[in-house]
Amino acid sequence: MVNKIPFNRPAFIEQAEVYISRALRSGHLAGDGDFTKQSTALLEKMIGVRKALLTTSCTHALEMAAILLDLKNGDEVILPSFTFVSTVNAIVLRGAKPVFIDIRPDTLNLDENQLERLITPRTKAIFVVHYAGVACEMDTINQISAKYNIPMVEDNAHGLFGTYKGKNLGTFGVLATQSFHETKNISTGEGGALLINDPNLVERAEIIREKGTNRSRFFRGQVDKYTWVDIGSSYLPSELIAALLLAQLESAEQIQAKRNKIWNTYNTELSGWAENFGVGLPHVPADCGHPSHLFYLLMPDLDVRTRFIEWMKSQNIICVFHYLPLHLSDMGLKFGGRQGDCPVTEDISDRLVRLPLFFDMTEEDQVRVIDAIKSFLP
Ligand SMILES: *Cc1c(COP(=O)(O)O)cnc(C)c1O
Repeated sequence: MVNKIPFNRPAFIEQAEVYISRALRSGHLAGDGDFTKQSTALLEKMIGVRKALLTTSCTHALEMAAILLDLKNGDEVILPSFTFVSTVNAIVLRGAKPVFIDIRPDTLNLDENQLERLITPRTKAIFVVHYAGVACEMDTINQISAKYNIPMVEDNAHGLFGTYKGKNLGTFGVLATQSFHETKNISTGEGGALLINDPNLVERAEIIREKGTNRSRFFRGQVDKYTWVDIGSSYLPSELIAALLLAQLESAEQIQAKRNKIWNTYNTELSGWAENFGVGLPHVPADCGHPSHLFYLLMPDLDVRTRFIEWMKSQNIICVFHYLPLHLSDMGLKFGGRQGDCPVTEDISDRLVRLPLFFDMTEEDQVRVIDAIKSFLP
């Protein structure tokens, strides 16, 4: 049997072994040591944000964002139904109500033309997700956010190194979140970051991340003892994670070049086949530079997708679907979700399938994937 081609494999960077070993021997394994400082500074420089804080996950960065915006019972937050559960959990954990918005059929990002209709006097935030790292329509969203004075947060888990009109994703919202989960382009197994574009939120973010204490100020010598000053939790990763992150970020160019090549090969090699069989490929608007986070196919219907995944599996190639509509999940129904609320999300969710795309995927692997796809008859 031919070797198995997984959907994903995290990028192995040899320098990580050097850094992790150095961290281990340093005698300092808790958070906010040298590796945290170095990887944070590099991340800030790469994205061009004033302040980043490493977190244990993107999920935790989203929770911090919800605390920083003072979301509470009675508030509403608009977010796409087509996203990972962490985006909505962050909102619901504060007692606020999620208001699900449908997506555009082309970019699979929230449909900015439906945004104003969903705004009420209780709307306290808009959480956007740049699906596959392709930017949402930021000009329109920014205008609406400014017009109603509603802060916007970017769940940028897919969008590290993505751009909109030449500006980096993660620099648009008052806050933005990154993920370094194993499935993301830059990965530390579990890990994330909160990007803070509103300078007024920096000090409180540090406090929330340090169990609600002003410990960061204490370490900087700004106060002579540290104490409990706000709510918070333990959102900082250990130095081992930061060491791994530094190695990954230092190899970002190499990782991205490889991913771009794989993505572009899929796009070129599959375009004719896709057109013949009524299969959709990712749409990237001219204003968007995307980080080749995922490559997906939009099958004609659920039945074809199911048969496709089975066929690929029989060829020892793992392809996977993606988000189920949040508004129709068990929890979503409790918040009043109904079939038909977000018709595009419901349709896309049934038809989308993601292809293998990872750093050490070989050309032979990719040829095998493409050949297998072309020998599947929808
Ligand atoms: C991966 C992902 C998350 C969660 O990231 P973790 O680092 O695993 O917590 C949140 N939102 C989106 C859109 C994601 O893709």
